[in-house]
Amino acid sequence: MMAYLIALDDGHGKNTSGKRTPYIDHLGHSIRENEFNKQVVKYLDTELKRNGFDTLLVAPTDVDTSLSKRTKRANNAGADAYVSIHYNAYDGSFTGSNPSGIELYVYPGNLNRKAGKLAYHIGSYLRKGTKQNYRGVKEANFQVLRETNMAAVLSENGFMDHPDEAMLMMDAEFQQEVAIEHAKGICDFFNVLYVREQSEAWFIGRRVESIFDGELRFYNQPSWSDTDVVGYLKKGYGFPEITARVPVGGGDQYKAVNSSGAVFYVTTSEKYVQVI
Ligand SMILES: [Zn+2]
Repeated sequence: MMAYLIALDDGHGKNTSGKRTPYIDHLGHSIRENEFNKQVVKYLDTELKRNGFDTLLVAPTDVDTSLSKRTKRANNAGADAYVSIHYNAYDGSFTGSNPSGIELYVYPGNLNRKAGKLAYHIGSYLRKGTKQNYRGVKEANFQVLRETNMAAVLSENGFMDHPDEAMLMMDAEFQQEVAIEHAKGICDFFNVLYVREQSEAWFIGRRVESIFDGELRFYNQPSWSDTDVVGYLKKGYGFPEITARVPVGGGDQYKAVNSSGAVFYVTTSEKYVQVI
């Protein structure tokens, strides 16, 4: 099967006029919108490639690439989806009213079509994965949404003129979070199982829970033996904290603690559990 091709758009050129935060006193300068967009596109590119997608960076340089050039590149390449990363602005000032939060856009009339579906998938992950207000999926007659032939979504991942969200723009952890949530939504839309980055111990301290429709066995020691089973997890139930991953016979188990600190062992198989 051929890989899906995702066109990634970093919104604006580095020096596109206007597209920046108000002057930030304690930094001594403003932050350009593209500084955020570009980093998220970079992380998203990595996320998508790891998950088996091909990507097309429609504006790979810092030069101000016109919107029509961006959409033409995606159309010519026959991309399967177009994702444009942005940061919002309200009135260009830190004073007065400062709305905050994330919103996604599709071309008018597309909420119930492919683009809308893609936007809802991405939005649901952004809503869960970030601490920000979730402002929903909206319609707008934006050029990159109008001139693209494939499912096209534009995300505004915060407000440049909200004092806290302006500072988030340069937070690498936040940039990565935004990229990961986009990648998860894109995976869902294309029915691809999202695979997270396998750094050595990414699961430590996280919750493990059953995604199995039946009853999932857990054990009081690293074992697959019937006699060591001490209970069953229903779907959605699990343990709040993984403390280790241990090899047991043919597969691994998570060593995890429940809310009272008792230690249990449960499979690491992604067919049965998810780590949140
Ligand atoms: Zn923008």
